[in-house]
Amino acid sequence: MKKSQALTLFDLVERLSLLTRADLRQAGTAQGLQPVHLQVLFYLNQANRFSNTPQALTEYLGLTKGTVSQTVLVLARRRLITRYADPRDGRVVRLILTEGGTTLLKTLSAGGAWRDIVQTASPARVTSAVVVLRQVLAQVQAQSGKRTFGVCATCRHNQRLGPRTYFCGLMQEKLSSPEVRRICREHAPPLALEPDLGRASAA
Ligand code: SF4
Repeated sequence: MKKSQALTLFDLVERLSLLTRADLRQAGTAQGLQPVHLQVLFYLNQANRFSNTPQALTEYLGLTKGTVSQTVLVLARRRLITRYADPRDGRVVRLILTEGGTTLLKTLSAGGAWRDIVQTASPARVTSAVVVLRQVLAQVQAQSGKRTFGVCATCRHNQRLGPRTYFCGLMQEKLSSPEVRRICREHAPPLALEPDLGRASAA
């Protein structure tokens, strides 16, 4: 990719990101919530059972512990999420959407306009765009030492045992089909797909 194309791509992603945030702000205001409250709800709606902690939220959203604590408090008071102690380790707090939280997310229809517009493009073009953006994201995350928070099905620890049976080699636990479609704090890209940082910095 040429340098000018890379800059154009960056401008487009930034512009789309700003518009998405503005939409989120508007949707939140109508519900008496700030964008950060909605971001937490969206995250918990996607995260798997190993990733629904305040610590994972701070890492995923790039927020401070204090901001996450305050946000969790507000959402719990609004009964949009519930906090519970991990059954295996009572010191770990876990978070889950309540029925009210799930219903709220459905009413927001986040990404609806985006989805409709993208569906008018050819599948091959969309696939190319997804591949490039995933590659850039993985590279940026690797360079900054941040976790990938990828989809479980794409993790190197995910072992397919049968048509609908999966096993996590890291956590040593069985995974269901719906679970492998969720994002995970412990996600690790397949070794063959790991970004080549040496090549990237030399380019
Ligand atoms: S296979 Fe990877 S992504 Fe899936 S639960 Fe295990 S560590 Fe997380």
